[in-house]
Amino acid sequence: MVIPAPETELTYTDSWQLLVAVVLSAQCTDARVNQITPALFERFPDAASTAKSTPEEVFPFIRSISYPNNKSKHLVGAAQMVMSDFGGRVPETVDEIVKLPGAGRKTAQVVASVAFGVPTLAVDTHVFRVANRIGLVSPDAITPEKVERQLKRLLPESTWGEAHHLLILHGRYTCTARSPSCEGCAAAHCCHYKSNLDQLPAPEESLDPKRGRYYCKTRKHYFEEPDLITDRAGIEQISCPRCGSMNVFHSKSGLTTRRVKDFRV
Ligand code: SF4
Repeated sequence: MVIPAPETELTYTDSWQLLVAVVLSAQCTDARVNQITPALFERFPDAASTAKSTPEEVFPFIRSISYPNNKSKHLVGAAQMVMSDFGGRVPETVDEIVKLPGAGRKTAQVVASVAFGVPTLAVDTHVFRVANRIGLVSPDAITPEKVERQLKRLLPESTWGEAHHLLILHGRYTCTARSPSCEGCAAAHCCHYKSNLDQLPAPEESLDPKRGRYYCKTRKHYFEEPDLITDRAGIEQISCPRCGSMNVFHSKSGLTTRRVKDFRV
């Protein structure tokens, strides 16, 4: 999938509604949030009206999304702080936005970037997974903070916002956690994960499942119980108990048992 104009899929009309939508989208899909925000924004269109409400009044509008109790408290709290501390306007910097109830660093980065054009690159589960799979970051980038630092070093500042949305949309629709659509992926030619997949051994022929569940590449060693070895990428691989080879195949299907490093988050 090629994405010509990467942008957020959340529906909003101003910075307050964007903040609300991003807070609501934590642990929830954008599509689900977009289903409930029209009614919510009709009743509470801005920070002023939300600040005068109570969590109990907000709750019915957001009850179908995850953590509605906490989120309704956060929205009212954030609205009251926007009114009392920021003159009724959503603050523009990440450091100020994170002070609002319910706004973590990722939320603050998204709001600052999308609403105010602040150069920042929020790393969510999709950005983290796709950046690691393609190989945009080094193998030791095992936290969102490390991925963010490395992506910022790699990409020009003017592209951070666009890169954030591009990686999210690619992760949401193509490079999904459980079954990435590598065939036809626009990034396949430069993707480490795909390259590793392509290098897995092809199915062996002339296997005899009666001699054992597994068979190593020597074609001489069948066995029921494999050994386990941790390879150079830190992945536990099945190995032949006689020769130690990690090129082990299922005797029934002929398929390899080797696994490539994955970030199923
Ligand atoms: S080739 Fe596969 S793993 Fe690589 S980015 Fe595309 S979908 Fe993801």
